[in-house]
Amino acid sequence: MRLAVGKAVVAAPRPDLLERLAVQTAKRSGDHLLRRLRTIDRADGPWLDVGNGRLLSFCSNDYLGLAQHPQLVAALTRAAREHGVGSTSAHLICGHRAEHAELEEALAVWTGRERALLFSTGYMANLGVLQALLARGDICVQDKLNHACLLDGAKLSGAELKRYPHADVEAATRQLAASPDAAALLATDGVFSMDGDVAPLRELAALCARERATLLVDDAHGLGVLGEHGAGSVSAADLGQHEVPLLMATLGKALGCMGAFVAGPAALIEGLIQFARPYIYTTAMPPALAAAALEAVQLAQVEGWRREKLFALIARFRRGATELGLPLAVSASAIQPLLLGSADAALAAAQALERHGLLVSAIRPPTVPPGQARLRITLSAAHEEAHVDRLLGALETLRLPTAHQATPGDHV
Ligand SMILES: *Cc1c(COP(=O)(O)O)cnc(C)c1O
Repeated sequence: MRLAVGKAVVAAPRPDLLERLAVQTAKRSGDHLLRRLRTIDRADGPWLDVGNGRLLSFCSNDYLGLAQHPQLVAALTRAAREHGVGSTSAHLICGHRAEHAELEEALAVWTGRERALLFSTGYMANLGVLQALLARGDICVQDKLNHACLLDGAKLSGAELKRYPHADVEAATRQLAASPDAAALLATDGVFSMDGDVAPLRELAALCARERATLLVDDAHGLGVLGEHGAGSVSAADLGQHEVPLLMATLGKALGCMGAFVAGPAALIEGLIQFARPYIYTTAMPPALAAAALEAVQLAQVEGWRREKLFALIARFRRGATELGLPLAVSASAIQPLLLGSADAALAAAQALERHGLLVSAIRPPTVPPGQARLRITLSAAHEEAHVDRLLGALETLRLPTAHQATPGDHV
């Protein structure tokens, strides 16, 4: 930047980027919003060894308790012996192995789609879909509470991003109707990651059909948990490939692995292979991981008892929390937030629970809007009833705001 001082032109010093970042970090620290990394030494189901203590965790996304399943570990080991650890290249070079192909086939069948395409992470899957489909001049309509990677994907695509208030189909309708000539994509989480509620999928699908917009559902938290045989929130809403042509879900949550996929019409998948840069220009997920994920997909489908157990634990938690008058959110999923309002209150509650040997994450701005900090409790089929009771017992000793005092931002 150059400043004109009288006639002389004085060069202002170029801002130092690391210094600027340090200032931003210091500000976040001053606001008591600093994020801290915690190193876990060992995981044993929901138990985590940390330093010289053991914590009972209510913050993993391992909803079906598959992450440490011996069959997954055996499949991973077997495939690693055949392929080694890494895939050694991108899918389009020589990284695409039989394990990937088999997993894609199984995911397509499970979700009732023609084809599926693996991505290395969910974040990249959403970037890839949005960047491949959208361009400048298009519009991308999204729920305000969508996952960060959907928002980032829209930015990357160059399309105009319009965000409607949470689950507000009317507002989404107005946003689409305001640009009747632009190509349009509507994106929503299936199950919202910080709230646990399910999007109004049938209404959104009807809206997209009326407005000729393309619907993308990110089912990271629904796959494995909701729907018949765990096929997800889209299947639970009885929406096929025609209504939801873009279905994305991850392998790192209920399936206990890592990676993600997009499922839909064959022509879509072929187009993504050609144009989705986060698919093309990255190393394929390790084939051993794909082998483990295939095992997880099969277990998730046939072991319905995992879902039954999970939902029994969810019901038990909600019953207990209601009796205690806790500020429960409206959620029927494995994500059960307690809305506490201020970031300090959420942090203090998480710290108090940790003194009881329980690990629950405090979710604070900017992950959620200001004034809507919360404890994000997640349940898993790896939990037992006694674990839920222990959590409820500890919550009872904290002086949390009751349901009536629930925070002003109650968007649920
Ligand atoms: C976790 C998550 C992602 C990102 O998936 P990763 O595989 O962890 O990168 C995307 N969308 C939603 C809704 C998520 O919860």
